[in-house]
Amino acid sequence: MAYVFDPLPTPALPVQGDDRLFPVHRIYCVGRNYAEHTREMGHDPDREPPFFFQKNPDNLLTTGEFPYPMASEDVHWEIEMVVALKSGGTKIAVEQAMDHVFGYGVALDMTRRDLQGVAKKMGRPWEVGKAFEKSAPCTSLVSASDVGHPDKGAIWLEVNGTRRQEGDLAQMIWSIPEQIAYLSGLFELQPGDLILTGTPAGVSAVLRGDVLRGHVDGLPELDVKVV
Ligand code: MN
Repeated sequence: MAYVFDPLPTPALPVQGDDRLFPVHRIYCVGRNYAEHTREMGHDPDREPPFFFQKNPDNLLTTGEFPYPMASEDVHWEIEMVVALKSGGTKIAVEQAMDHVFGYGVALDMTRRDLQGVAKKMGRPWEVGKAFEKSAPCTSLVSASDVGHPDKGAIWLEVNGTRRQEGDLAQMIWSIPEQIAYLSGLFELQPGDLILTGTPAGVSAVLRGDVLRGHVDGLPELDVKVV
């Protein structure tokens, strides 16, 4: 059957040491998964559990140049580890969750904080703040067979050579298997789904010309210039 116009290409990420691409289905993002970041955003991690929102698969960016987006004057960085799923399902048990993981990467959950703030205040959805073009700069993926399943290790972001965010994967409120199990009780997870696993404290605004370096122990460095 023909299409009425040519479909856009499937969003995909490179895989380290593999000629093949990882085709992306959905991007789930966990909000407020590190207690210190929850507090800096004005919330109490002991009273409000993490939650999920989504970005669009075609919001991924792998060129290393983040174009300052339209309609905002307060665009924030959030460094996050990415979990990439090779299989999915519903109602996945925590004990089985890691069987679905293909590998890991590093991404920025770039956020139009001013638009998100208005949406929060008015009880509206977050898409305008979170799911805009090129809002998810991301590294190549590394397969779990190469890197294992990181559940501790440094995660940090440097902006123009200065450390601005710093944490440890072990500080996540919901562990990766807990995130997968929880999500699979709300949505049918599919091969190609990505999960951005939340950001440690230290979020703030980028300026044009800023050079960002994101790091998670054992994974590729994420180098992004704001243009
Ligand atoms: Mn985030």
